[in-house]
Amino acid sequence: MKDEKIQDLIQKEISRQRDGLVLIPSENYASPEVLAAMGTPLSNKYSEGYPGKRYYGGNKFIDEIEALAVERAKKLFNAEHANVQPHSGSQANAAVYLALLKPGDKILGFDLKAGGHLTHGSPVNFSGLTYNFAFYGVNPKTELIDFSEVEKIALEFKPKLIIVSTTSYSRILDFAKFSAIAKKVNAYLLGDIAHIAGLVIAAEHPHPFPFCDVVTTTTHKTLRGPRGGLILCKEKDEITGGSLAQKIDKGVFPGLQGGPMDHIIAAKAICFLEAMQPAFKKYQRQIILNARAMAEEFKKQGIRVVSGGTDNHLMVIDISSFGVESKKIQDGLNELNIYVNRNTIPNDSKPPYNPSGIRVGSPAITTRGLKEKDAALVAGLVAEFIKNFGDKNVKIKIKQEVQRLVKKFPIYNNFKW
Ligand SMILES: *Cc1c(COP(=O)(O)O)cnc(C)c1O
Repeated sequence: MKDEKIQDLIQKEISRQRDGLVLIPSENYASPEVLAAMGTPLSNKYSEGYPGKRYYGGNKFIDEIEALAVERAKKLFNAEHANVQPHSGSQANAAVYLALLKPGDKILGFDLKAGGHLTHGSPVNFSGLTYNFAFYGVNPKTELIDFSEVEKIALEFKPKLIIVSTTSYSRILDFAKFSAIAKKVNAYLLGDIAHIAGLVIAAEHPHPFPFCDVVTTTTHKTLRGPRGGLILCKEKDEITGGSLAQKIDKGVFPGLQGGPMDHIIAAKAICFLEAMQPAFKKYQRQIILNARAMAEEFKKQGIRVVSGGTDNHLMVIDISSFGVESKKIQDGLNELNIYVNRNTIPNDSKPPYNPSGIRVGSPAITTRGLKEKDAALVAGLVAEFIKNFGDKNVKIKIKQEVQRLVKKFPIYNNFKW
C-alpha cells in the first residue's frame, strides 16, 4: 500500500482483534469470504432502485446479486418480503418509521435503560427528535418485561407502532404477547432483532413471524455477516390493507437512502448462505451455552447478573457494589486485551456515561471456538479483575491467561493484508 500510515493502522487493528477476547455482544468476526466480498470493485457501482428497476445502466450482475441476497434472506427468515439495502441497523429502523409513520406520530418503545436501542426514541437521536415516543420498562423486582404494564401504557398512549427489541435485555422476547397488545390498539408491531438474528435463525429464540408486521436486523452481530442492515416484512399491510412490502421498499429508497452498497449486499448474500449451513445452527447453540456458563460463573463469584441470568447471548452485570466506576473497569480490561462495554442497568441511578453495569456477551469468543468451560474461565477473569481492582499481580495473571486463550483459539491467522 502506498498509504503506509493507514496500512500500518489497519494491520494494528487486525492484530488487536486477533490478540484480544471480545466480549462486546454486538461484535463478531465475519468470515474471510464475507470480508473479501466487501473489498471488491462492486463498491464502485451505482444502482439506485431495485433489481430490474434501476436508474443507472450496467446493473446486470448487480441485479442478480441483489435478487439472490433477497431470495436467501426470505428463505432464511421465513419472510414474505426482504429489503437488503439498509446501510445499517439504524437506517433499517429509520426506513421503517418513514414508511409507516408521519413525523410526530406515536411509537411505544423499550426503555433504553432497560435494554432498548438509541433508535427507539432516545431524545438525542433522530427517532426521539422526529416521533412522539412513550416507553415500557421492566419490573423493578424481577427486571423482566411486565406485560400488564406494556398493555396499560399501550391502551393509554395509543401508539401507531410498537417496538420489541433488545440491545442489553438478556431474556426471551415474547413476540406473541406483544402482538396481542398491538392488535388491541391497532398498532404495527416491529421486531428489531439486531442482536438475536442468529439465534432466531437457529431456533434458539422464538421467531418474530408471524407476530411482527416488520422485522429489522443488523447483519454483523450474531448473524456474523458484513456491517449492514436488513428489513423483513409481510407482503400485506394488515392495518390499511395495502402493500406493506411496497411501503417498506419506498421507505428505504427513495425515502431514506440513495444508492445501495452493492459490495455489502454481495457480502450479505454470502453470510445468508453461511447461516443456512448446519454448522451455523451449532454455532448459535454454543453461543447460548457459553453465555449461560458465563452468567453462572459471575453469580458464583458473587457478581449480580441483571434479571438473574440469561436466555440469549448476553448479560449485564451489576458492579455498583464494588465501588469502582464502570468506565474504569472497561478501560482496565482494555489494557489486558479483554473488551467489554459499560451499560446502564434497569432504573440505573448513575448516568449513561458512567453507568452501574457492564454488558458481556459470547458471540465473538464462540466464533473463536471457546466452549462452556473456557467461557466460564473468561467470565472468571473479568470477575477477578473487578473484585481485585488495581491489584498488579492479578493483572499480570489475567494478561497471561488471555494470551494463552487467544493462542489456543486463534482467529484470522491466515488472514492476508
Ligand atoms: C445494534 C442495534 C441497532 C443498530 O445498529 P447499527 O448497525 O449500529 O446502526 C438497532 N437496533 C438494535 C436493537 C441494535 O442492537
